[in-house]
Amino acid sequence: MDNPDSPVEYYEDLPEMAPEEPVPDEEPVKEQRSKGFSFWRGLQTVLGAAFLVATIFTLWTPGSMIESSLEARMAAALEAASGFRPAAQEFPQNLNEEVPSNTIGIVAGHYGSDSGSVCSNGLTEVEMNLKIATLVQKDLTDRGYEVDLLEEFDDRLMGYQGAALVSIHLDSCQYVNDQATGFKVAAALSAQNIAASQRLTNCLSERYGTVTDLPYHAGSVTDDMTYYHAFAEIDPITVAAIIEAGFLNRDYVFITEETDRIAEGIVAGILCYINNEPIHPAQSP
Ligand SMILES: [Zn+2]
Repeated sequence: MDNPDSPVEYYEDLPEMAPEEPVPDEEPVKEQRSKGFSFWRGLQTVLGAAFLVATIFTLWTPGSMIESSLEARMAAALEAASGFRPAAQEFPQNLNEEVPSNTIGIVAGHYGSDSGSVCSNGLTEVEMNLKIATLVQKDLTDRGYEVDLLEEFDDRLMGYQGAALVSIHLDSCQYVNDQATGFKVAAALSAQNIAASQRLTNCLSERYGTVTDLPYHAGSVTDDMTYYHAFAEIDPITVAAIIEAGFLNRDYVFITEETDRIAEGIVAGILCYINNEPIHPAQSP
């Protein structure tokens, strides 16, 4: 697609995984742990995902979120992708846990940690992330969900259990090029339930695009997104995604003046996933 020449500049606002900048004094243990976990989960995913997911499907309580038809479709897709056939067999005990189907985690990117991107007029990414996250929390709470508004490095992320976890970020306030507009979504690569992860990502992308009319900024999902630290900390049964909801530079007016539509788009994506709504291809009516 219209890939920029130097995509690296886009991602400077994402939370740093590499210790290039001084780590805050109280954080070194957490930083180490996150990296270790990411690496291990990545390896684990490559080596064991097909086996794990296939076995989870046979035992996943369908009552909570996944309808049997979807379950079958995902299992078929995974079989096709992996060449693995699910077999009824033993699996780790903790995979049997009930996911708290009424609980949703919302991470306000950079909140409690740093400012994220900073615009020349002083507007910061973190204040907009928090504004969006608060609107999302209120909307979902009004609909009867229990919503945890979480900081970037919230203690509650460790082992977090919920029906879904979505981290909200915004892209750079620096001018990159004219194509630097729109949003992108990445799933937790480390998730045990890869098909569910993919579905949350698809729901968010489709609904957010429809509600906001922002373009999907293809080809710029980075390792910082897929290996996002929070994904390594949460309970692997929790399905998670990160959304970069727009560019503070090119989408500034939309982000600051139609913040409620941004929140509405994210809520629609989460509800699509939780209610197992059908996702229409972009070109269909
Ligand atoms: Zn950010």
